[in-house]
Amino acid sequence: MDRLCIVVPCYNEEEVLKISSEALRSVLADLKGKGKIAADSFVLFVNDGSRDRTWELIEEEHRLYPAEVSGLKLARNVGHQFALTAGLLTAKDLCDVTVSIDADLQDDTAVIEEMIDRYHEGCEIVYGVRKERKTDTFFKRFTAQSFYKLMAAMGVRTVYNHADFRLMSKRALEEFAKYPEYNLYLRGMMPLIGFRTAEVLYDRKERVAGESKYPLKKMLALAFDGISSFSVKPISMVLGLGVFIVFCSVLAAIYALISYGTGHVVPGWTSLMLSIWFLGGIQLLAIGLIGQYIGKVYIEVKHRPRYTIETLLAPEES
Ligand code: UDP
Ligand code: MG
Repeated sequence: MDRLCIVVPCYNEEEVLKISSEALRSVLADLKGKGKIAADSFVLFVNDGSRDRTWELIEEEHRLYPAEVSGLKLARNVGHQFALTAGLLTAKDLCDVTVSIDADLQDDTAVIEEMIDRYHEGCEIVYGVRKERKTDTFFKRFTAQSFYKLMAAMGVRTVYNHADFRLMSKRALEEFAKYPEYNLYLRGMMPLIGFRTAEVLYDRKERVAGESKYPLKKMLALAFDGISSFSVKPISMVLGLGVFIVFCSVLAAIYALISYGTGHVVPGWTSLMLSIWFLGGIQLLAIGLIGQYIGKVYIEVKHRPRYTIETLLAPEES
């Protein structure tokens, strides 16, 4: 039987921690009862440098339910993505399969069972995908959806409407551990791993208590990280613009020379006109070209694995 670990990053979540712990323990009990996970499955709360009583509450839960609840305390606040990574990589060595979920229980704990079923069918990663965004404000929905479209336009593969509610097997986590990069955008990285994956649909609810720890500023930062960590397309756009302007400068040159020939120009206009267009174009082109090299250096320094091996049919000794 496979041992499940539910990983929960928590930052200033004192209002929801007890509720969350109870809900997740009952999910575990249910799945254990149905014989879908091992009896020693557990919840791992990751305290991301909270300034409130979150850690004390985790300690208390661990005292009350030492077998079901465990805790990981980070030395300071490092943000959701790092906190989740810390939890997943710690869990990797303790269990066979993990499910990551937010502490506020906005994601439907009922679909964890479906995730486990998909896992038993052989999927290494199962994405929780939101059906609709009824509970989000118009603003959040609009910004989030524009973001997914922008990502797609920039050539980044992401799972539409998937946040970090996800099942990952030990095997997928071992591959994930080979990505040592600092600019983390987890939901963009998982599709790079490969393997058989699946999606389960759910409705996202309101926060149980407390308030969002993702204000617009953090959301924009995450969006920028998402694009800049996965795509060097913006650089190619600069190069493209440079080529376009140089092309325009040829047209401008023809126009300027004709005007000069017909004699309708102020002295000095033609040479100024030519230098402005041409030099501007050449400069953009040069910046774009240098950018291309920087883009390559950027990709190299990430040291991402170049492939993931799924199966090797080795020759057997006869
Ligand atoms: N979180 C974290 N570190 C942070 C900010 C948030 O670990 O610096 C956790 C938070 O406790 C929650 C999850 O990340 O479990 C998602 O945050 P939140 O629910 O506030 O985001 P929203 O659902 O509003 O986008
Ligand atoms: Mg939330």
